[in-house]
Amino acid sequence: MDLKDLYRDVILDHNKRPRNFGALEPADARAEGHNPLCGDRLTLTLRLDGNRVTDIRFEGKGCAISTASASLMTEAVLGKDIDSIDGLRAIVQRALTEHDYAAPPELGKLAALTGVREFPARVKCATLCWHTLAAALERSGANVSTE
Ligand code: ZN
Repeated sequence: MDLKDLYRDVILDHNKRPRNFGALEPADARAEGHNPLCGDRLTLTLRLDGNRVTDIRFEGKGCAISTASASLMTEAVLGKDIDSIDGLRAIVQRALTEHDYAAPPELGKLAALTGVREFPARVKCATLCWHTLAAALERSGANVSTE
């Protein structure tokens, strides 16, 4: 199995069986994201202990890339503090948009999404959840649009 097959399997798996799907009630932080280009919508709810994300859920409707990306993101940020999440978010942004950026090991399973680099129209599907997470962590409760 080559790397592309592995990446495809990770995305298919997370789209079919999204991890941390649902909503936390009550939540310490929440934000909604919308990608009008594709129609992806998601709502993130989080529980925080100080600066640390102790629980995170997402729900919504979107394409396979946006669902898999949100699912992988919730796994990647669970238990992390806001500073490390900001660092990871910057790495993900580069990995999904820069062709010659070599994915560092801390990307982990999120590397499965780097294939969207070849499809600029899909980049926003993959980054929507990260923009939404940033809004939630600012505790603005804001609605995010990728436009
Ligand atoms: Zn999409």
